[in-house]
Amino acid sequence: MALIVQKYGGTSMGSPERIRSVARRVAKFRAQEHQVVVVVSAMSGETNRLIALARELSSNPDPRELDVVISTGEQVTIALLALALQEIGVAAKSYTGAQVKILTDSAHTKARILSIDQAGIRADLDAGKVVIVAGFQGVDEHGAITTLGRGGSDTTGVALAAALSADECQIYTDVDGVYTTDPRIVPEARKLDTITFEEMLEMASLGSKVLQIRSVEFAGKYKVKLRVLSSFEEENEGTLITVEENKNMEHPVISGIAFNRDEAKITVLGVPDQPGIAYQILGPVAEANIDVDMIIQNVGRDGLTDFSFTVSRGDLDRTTNVLDRVKAGIGAAAIEADQSLCKVSVVGVGMHSHPGVAAKMFKTLSAEGINIRMISTSEIKISVAIEEKYLELAVRVLHKAFDLDQAR
Ligand code: ADP
Ligand code: ASP
Ligand code: MG
Repeated sequence: MALIVQKYGGTSMGSPERIRSVARRVAKFRAQEHQVVVVVSAMSGETNRLIALARELSSNPDPRELDVVISTGEQVTIALLALALQEIGVAAKSYTGAQVKILTDSAHTKARILSIDQAGIRADLDAGKVVIVAGFQGVDEHGAITTLGRGGSDTTGVALAAALSADECQIYTDVDGVYTTDPRIVPEARKLDTITFEEMLEMASLGSKVLQIRSVEFAGKYKVKLRVLSSFEEENEGTLITVEENKNMEHPVISGIAFNRDEAKITVLGVPDQPGIAYQILGPVAEANIDVDMIIQNVGRDGLTDFSFTVSRGDLDRTTNVLDRVKAGIGAAAIEADQSLCKVSVVGVGMHSHPGVAAKMFKTLSAEGINIRMISTSEIKISVAIEEKYLELAVRVLHKAFDLDQAR
């Protein structure tokens, strides 16, 4: 008997028929005597619909109330799945995040999980019930409902698996694993049987939404056995996220390509080219709790320079507001915003022992006439900002250039 946490995403829960199919899979695991905790997302499209509704009534929704609205999608699906399981003779009970007591901080719409009360879940599992928990939501110390950020049900799943010391956490989705890149963009993308935590962490943070980044962080920290697999196929192995670095000499230099459309570039024009200027610009931005991604300071001329950086598009207005306030103090001539960029990244743990990855990446893009606007690198990734209209082309040509479409 094993304890398994299964998480089903929006498409997997997208219709009564899909929910019945999830129930049948859960029943199969119960029939093998496994204890099963299921974490579900809202039906696909529902969270977007709820956000749009809130925005219709408020141009700048109060985060506390927004969380109350957008957490309702998962409250529907937990009970629907419980009903579907009961209908086929499987004892099941649903829990909202607050009912479990998934305690989070109070950072509405991007809360972090602090602790999980296991008592109720354990008692139900021991009584032979399937426990169904609403993904994406928790409760803060004041009893306010919180949500964990888009895609947060993955994190609920992995956090529960960690808290319960589950034998495995299975993330069921609409693709059968983690691919070399998003298979919706590159049909030649190949499924990976395994990927290291490090690589998965980079892929997730660079925009591969197949797993929410915090779920990968949790899995790495608490050594959760994590697998991504398809809810549409009867039997499949999916992709195992491994702690071990792949010792195989044949391990490819590049494992995958990630991309992110959610980039906005801000340029502070004509600032004095002197020590401390980066701090004067980015200090107030950091104080406003805005994450900065790529940064570039242009070569100065006549004692002046331009300073550019990227933030997520949702933070653009706040960032320009902050800079408008400090503009005079730093002596900037103007502030420009540009939302036409995106970011494309190649990721691979093999990169640090193989020089020439950057050169190959830049050569491949230049052969297509794609201009690189910004660059950032780490030990295991190289990211470039390019015009968004070239995104799909860039991902496709890089995928081919690094032989990711070749079977290994
Ligand atoms: P769920 O609703 O199940 O959480 P998501 O839409 O959040 O599903 O994540 C699955 C989607 O992630 C896939 O449909 C795929 O388009 C996308 N995706 C992006 N990058 C990758 C990748 N490298 N491998 C697999 N899927 C990816
Ligand atoms: N329903 C939430 C979202 O759409 C959480 C999730 O699906 O993981 O972001
Ligand atoms: Mg998701």
